[in-house]
Amino acid sequence: MANIIGGIGASHSPTIAFAKDTNKQDDPAWSPIFEGFNVIRDWVQEKKVDVLFMIFNDHITSFGFDHYSAFTLGIDDTYVTADEGGGARDYPPATGHAALARHIGQSFVADEFDMSIFQKKPLDHGFFSPLSMIAPDASKGWEGTVVPLQVGVLQMPIPNAKRCFKLGQSLRKAVQSFPEDLNVAIVATGGLSHQIHGERCGFTNEAWDQEFLALLASDPEALTQVRLAEYAEKGGMEGAEVIMWLIMRGALSEQVNNVYETTYLPSMTNIATVIYEDLGDMPKEAELQAYRDHVHYELAGIEKIEGTYPFTIETSLTRYRLNNFLRRLIIPEHRERFISDLDNLMQEYELTDDEQTLVRDQKWLEMIRYGVIFFVLEKMAAVLGVSNPQVYAKFRGLSLEDFQKTRKVAMQYSVAGGKKSE
Ligand code: FE
Repeated sequence: MANIIGGIGASHSPTIAFAKDTNKQDDPAWSPIFEGFNVIRDWVQEKKVDVLFMIFNDHITSFGFDHYSAFTLGIDDTYVTADEGGGARDYPPATGHAALARHIGQSFVADEFDMSIFQKKPLDHGFFSPLSMIAPDASKGWEGTVVPLQVGVLQMPIPNAKRCFKLGQSLRKAVQSFPEDLNVAIVATGGLSHQIHGERCGFTNEAWDQEFLALLASDPEALTQVRLAEYAEKGGMEGAEVIMWLIMRGALSEQVNNVYETTYLPSMTNIATVIYEDLGDMPKEAELQAYRDHVHYELAGIEKIEGTYPFTIETSLTRYRLNNFLRRLIIPEHRERFISDLDNLMQEYELTDDEQTLVRDQKWLEMIRYGVIFFVLEKMAAVLGVSNPQVYAKFRGLSLEDFQKTRKVAMQYSVAGGKKSE
């Protein structure tokens, strides 16, 4: 069974990555940052942590305002550094534990936290600043695996502290019910007090930070009663991202062993590093199995429905390449090349030989069985001048005429816009 070893709290200020990349560990202004993170790094090694569950917020790098979500879980098998304006940081990618991420995603949704899911997104300093300080060897990066949870804390309204704590409680059950022996640490990033915009820029509050840390360890429920406006008032607007620490704390046992805690405020942000060891016991197997049954309740038996292929996050990851290739038919240049230069285009998108055959030969049903979602197939059909009913007929192994006989009215249509739809 996966075991929660403990929780880590760490700021994710970009100054941390800057200090790491420019080797400032012996500079007295910077060395306290390294001292705190070195304790975390050594603890992670000593406890043989396999997976870091990384709770962070993106800074309008990979998660913009065209689609902003509260809780976004990464299901990918690899994560690279993002370009935040000056070129991507030269740091090794992190390896995702995709199977654990899927289980956690399913568990959250079963517990009524309707997750947003992401993949193929580079991650910014919110994720890589602390991760690179935990990894023992910068040339290799973190050699264990990660599951990232991006929390949207920048566009109001955002989840409150109580919601974050409850999500953490769900996370605990999700991790413990994962049927593989793994040591998992829950890493909360961000904070502590800081404000970096407006006339209040530069605001910090070390007294509140100490109070926050004391309550987090001993009485986290009290922190769930603090409103976001109060977090902003006490710890600065950007410092209100500390609500993410409630997710970590909710995932731990009621009592924790507070083995390390330090803060250092050199400039704009009170940089904290904290370790809590979990004291809880693993639930009994019957209890874990009951939780797994709850997680799989909604879809149990769906595989028995013939001719039906539910699109899951596993399919989404393993068949991303082909689904993405076909989704891009919404872009005029892509569909022009799809018509005029298909073979080269498919090679540029690194489709396998089998995938290329599926597309070239218009194997509609085989693509569904392979894990292509219907809604990109109807785009492909529209580009090729094939109507939706022609595709439906192929699914059913019928001629168009015979398929139309199964309908009350014979209609022809596609998603092609303008005159093409006539
Ligand atoms: Fe931040």
